[in-house]
Amino acid sequence: MFQSVYFDTDRGLEETATGSAFSPDVASVHELGHIQNAIDSPQDFIKRRNTTDTVWKNLEEKETTAKYEVPYAASRGMLQRSSYSKGFKSIKTINSINAITSSNLFNIMRSIGGF
Ligand SMILES: [Zn+2]
Repeated sequence: MFQSVYFDTDRGLEETATGSAFSPDVASVHELGHIQNAIDSPQDFIKRRNTTDTVWKNLEEKETTAKYEVPYAASRGMLQRSSYSKGFKSIKTINSINAITSSNLFNIMRSIGGF
């Protein structure tokens, strides 16, 4: 079985209702979590991936989000998803490890008199 991991180094995710966001590296931890789950137990991974869930799309997404993504996001003080069915939008971040967009950065700089 082969698995590929895709993530954009400048794409984070923002919850539209709250503006809370996470950085691209949180997304990479999520994707690598799927790989770890597949290594730990291929049968359970496939079983979870073949389920349908109204909140999480499938139970593999729920497992990976709870086991890898949320603890890592919490350690970084970023968005901790409790569902896939809330509104989210992809954001272009200033780098891989921050959830800050260029417009956020502009506002921060302006507020401190940077320009
Ligand atoms: Zn996933």
